[in-house]
Amino acid sequence: MSMIITSPIRGWAATLDSVPDPVFAQRMMGDGVAIQPLGDTVVAPFDGEVVTLHDAGHAISLRSAEGAEVLIHIGLDTVMLKGKGFTPLVAIGDKVSRGDPLIRFDLDAVALAATSLITPVIVTNTEAFAISRRTVDCAIGACEALMTLVPVQAEARRRSDDGTIVEQAVTLALPHGIHARPAARIGETARGFEAEVHLMNGDKRGDARSTVALLALGTAFGDEVVVQTRGNDAEAALAAIVALLASDMGEGAPAATPVAAIAVQILRTGQIGGVIASPGLAMGPAARLRQAEIPVARDGKDAAEERAALLAARGDVRGQIAGRADSADGSIAAVMHAHLALIDDPELLAGAEKRMAEGRSAGFAWRGAIHDQIDAIRATGNAHLIERIDDLVDIERQLLSALTGTPIEGAAVPAGALVVADDLLPSQLVSLAAAKPAGICLARGGPTSHVAILCAGMGLPALVAMGDALGGVEDGVPLLLDAEMGHVTVAPSPANIDAFTARLAKRAARREAAQSAAKDACQTADGTRIEIFANIGTVDDAVLAAAQGAEGSGLVRSEFLFLDRDTAPSEDEQHAAYQGIADALAGKPVIIRLLDIGGDKPAAYIPIAHEENPALGQRGIRVALAHPALLKTQLRAILRVQPVGQCKIMIPMIASIDELRQVRALVDRLRGEMGIATPVEVGVMVETPAAAMTADLLAAEADFLSIGTNDLTQYVLAMDRGNPAVAAGVDAMHPAVLRMIGEACRLATARGRWVGVCGGLASDPAALPILVGLGVTELSAVPGFVAEAKQIVRGLTLIEARAHAELALQCKSATEVRALARAFEETRR
Ligand code: PEP
Ligand code: MG
Repeated sequence: MSMIITSPIRGWAATLDSVPDPVFAQRMMGDGVAIQPLGDTVVAPFDGEVVTLHDAGHAISLRSAEGAEVLIHIGLDTVMLKGKGFTPLVAIGDKVSRGDPLIRFDLDAVALAATSLITPVIVTNTEAFAISRRTVDCAIGACEALMTLVPVQAEARRRSDDGTIVEQAVTLALPHGIHARPAARIGETARGFEAEVHLMNGDKRGDARSTVALLALGTAFGDEVVVQTRGNDAEAALAAIVALLASDMGEGAPAATPVAAIAVQILRTGQIGGVIASPGLAMGPAARLRQAEIPVARDGKDAAEERAALLAARGDVRGQIAGRADSADGSIAAVMHAHLALIDDPELLAGAEKRMAEGRSAGFAWRGAIHDQIDAIRATGNAHLIERIDDLVDIERQLLSALTGTPIEGAAVPAGALVVADDLLPSQLVSLAAAKPAGICLARGGPTSHVAILCAGMGLPALVAMGDALGGVEDGVPLLLDAEMGHVTVAPSPANIDAFTARLAKRAARREAAQSAAKDACQTADGTRIEIFANIGTVDDAVLAAAQGAEGSGLVRSEFLFLDRDTAPSEDEQHAAYQGIADALAGKPVIIRLLDIGGDKPAAYIPIAHEENPALGQRGIRVALAHPALLKTQLRAILRVQPVGQCKIMIPMIASIDELRQVRALVDRLRGEMGIATPVEVGVMVETPAAAMTADLLAAEADFLSIGTNDLTQYVLAMDRGNPAVAAGVDAMHPAVLRMIGEACRLATARGRWVGVCGGLASDPAALPILVGLGVTELSAVPGFVAEAKQIVRGLTLIEARAHAELALQCKSATEVRALARAFEETRR
């Protein structure tokens, strides 16, 4: 009986010979047709079952009721995109009907990023089915006939089999696991022997001659795979397959940077660089954390039982998180509350329920639901949201741990050690913190992730985005973590250790002195007043900031009130929050930044059309001016705060004076309507090179200027602050950024306006002398750094700070500036 395979996508059908990849063109994986796609959704080519779905979402295979196995591989080299641009709409094991959507993908993005969009549709079990008719060299619509298959009589394979099985474990060196291309190579090699060859990954076992079986093993880089052979030439087959698996098969990446090469790199430089997520210094032995996935059974016992198990596990996890939230404050408590919301998230619960109703176990269902959300977030391409994936993975692990009784790693780190890990989840960090580690080094992660925020809140020095070189750091090796300069020294010399110990002692003394004078006002040693404020988002933060000695808030990130909700907060709700912050700061100045939505901070109820470059699109004041009702509500809420004038208004993302004029006019109009005679200050943020270079024009009409070094750095250096690929270069100590800050100060102070810094640079101890030297007179830092910032400023004279800043402006790189800052600090022992 023949069967029809219809086209999984609209496009141009061509022969496999036209595919610029020998794996497909030479039929290594099987026979079929290639389609140059014109649509963005792959649909089922027959009624059947999903057999494999690659993690990267670019390849799927299905089995028909007749037993035909078909692989659809969207584009070439698309495994490298690691899922970016692909949204799978089904899961392994799902039953599908012809025409059901399987994978949606971003045609433009994938076309730009991949070698080719050409999509081979391959019958992988050609030993069982032959193609009797195929459609090629013409346009084809989805669900139109593509191939006709006829079953073939499988040729019985003769074996001289003595029954002995030989096996060997091998650690997979393929950077993306066994995906389509390596599967074809393995199959081809296996077919060169008479012996049966099977690969095993955990409890999954697959015939090495079957591409689909190999894909279904679901392997990843570093997995331990067991090769089993049996038959006449079993030994030779074993050796050949093991050698192949231990190589990277020409795919480069992680295994191609072997530990030996990493060791050479470490020995040569002695240092591994990273991005500062939380400043500080720490010394101690490396404590490596390796995380294994918690295994769960695919199928459940009975839907009611699985539901009950999930409910109980959610209850346990809720209790644990609530306990942690109660004993935390500020940003740590905020992260815990975000996790509490995830445990009861209706989308996650619906996703899990659907799977349990289909017979899946509670753990499998929860993991599937979480991964649906992760895929959806990845598909947005929004770097800020993608950093939040950590929180979903964290909730997945916590729940699976409760469900299966598998302990979560982390608590076993020795006190005083430096935790070295590929990445860390927020809950792991919180449980690790109890063991009192000295610092954190992560190969991945971003400087604005929740883990980074938590480390800063705990005062735990941390470097992130350290890359593969960190993989070469052995457990127990001594490390010096310099999260002021942004590197780790591996196996330091005695001289390194002495110098570092002296820096640590000095830092500790400064912190101690700082705490005892935390509440005092702050001026340089020669009498220049420098105000030390704190950045806050909530009333809790304001309470913490006041306790740390903050003289006010230089940045209230009001958008925290607007994010992660379905509607904008009302005037009353906003007023209550602003009044709470003003009260907590007891009459001290509070600078409320107007809503800074857009770019990396989206809000669902403020629709912004898809943008090619969100960082250069609708964000900050541009969004607020495009939604006058929203802006008016926020301004009214601020103007209602008592006493009038305590709260000042700050405008984000100013690029031209016209934006300031529009806001000022609205403030004045509202004051008139509300009968407020007291003037209310309106200042601008300097986050764009345009604002920095026209600071004199802005200063003529603004009451103050505050430099947002996070955005200013990304726009001056043209490096996305949320893109881990360029994270190592996004350093506000770059001389170009410092020159921009210096120029803004010069232009604005000539007009009699004060200039502050509220970006991350104000919380960097190495930067403060330079900022003061450049003319900054207000620093708004993270609350935990306020007391120390005051102490650093008190130890400076304006004259030496100016001379130091002058030298910094002449440096050739951020690294040189940081070395200069170190030398400056050394001189004041
Ligand atoms: C900045 O850009 O430096 C800033 C303070 O704003 P945010 O980090 O919130 O964008
Ligand atoms: Mg900003």
